[in-house]
Amino acid sequence: MELLPDIHLIDGVNSNAYLIVEPAGLTLVDSGLPGSDQKILAYLRALGKTPSQLSRILLTHQHVDHVGGAAELAALSGAEVIAHPLDTPAIEGTGPRDMPSGPMAILFRTMLLPRLRPVAVTRPVRAGETLPVLADDGGLQVIETPGHTLGQIAFYLPGRRLLFAGDAYRHTARGEVTLPFKMFNRDTAQARESLAALGTLAIDSSLPGHGKPMVRGAAEPLARAVKAAERASAIRQVG
Ligand SMILES: [Zn+2]
Ligand SMILES: [Zn+2]
Repeated sequence: MELLPDIHLIDGVNSNAYLIVEPAGLTLVDSGLPGSDQKILAYLRALGKTPSQLSRILLTHQHVDHVGGAAELAALSGAEVIAHPLDTPAIEGTGPRDMPSGPMAILFRTMLLPRLRPVAVTRPVRAGETLPVLADDGGLQVIETPGHTLGQIAFYLPGRRLLFAGDAYRHTARGEVTLPFKMFNRDTAQARESLAALGTLAIDSSLPGHGKPMVRGAAEPLARAVKAAERASAIRQVG
């Protein structure tokens, strides 16, 4: 469904995948669980688009519910695959992949990872870079938000005060912004510091990897989450 002009949510791939539609080409932000390529392709077809029109696949981080369809889609389209260097070895299958702690790890090892194909990251990006996507609104700025994974990145569109947050945070069913569940984080304290740092951005629209997107009105719940994260980080530093 089109959430905002030219920005679509592709439902039903177990995390939120977003499609940005421009005449110059399509940009996908995250690619769901393994097997999601079929759902994403069906969405493209429904828009009257072909796989070859997919120019870029942005991966916010290495987790299996965000990179699942990327290999198949990249092979079919020749799209650029964009991610942070610290998550690249896991995405490319040349380095260890972050796993959840506790019993959930068993589910990952037996059900999800055997179906996951590695994909080459053709363009590594870091903080300070801007991608030429929705350039009239300033382009997508790469924001490093480590903690959930070391290479977790978000993409900020200044002209629309919009953030594709990945798993820097999640939205709860009650419309609040909060950290991802601890068992999925590499370093929750660092994730909290990254969330606090997002307080420097003006954000009205929040499009996270999990939870219902907020197309507007994100400033207040986000400010509450940033304050809570700042308080917790300060207590940790004093303690
Ligand atoms: Zn994640
Ligand atoms: Zn996720």
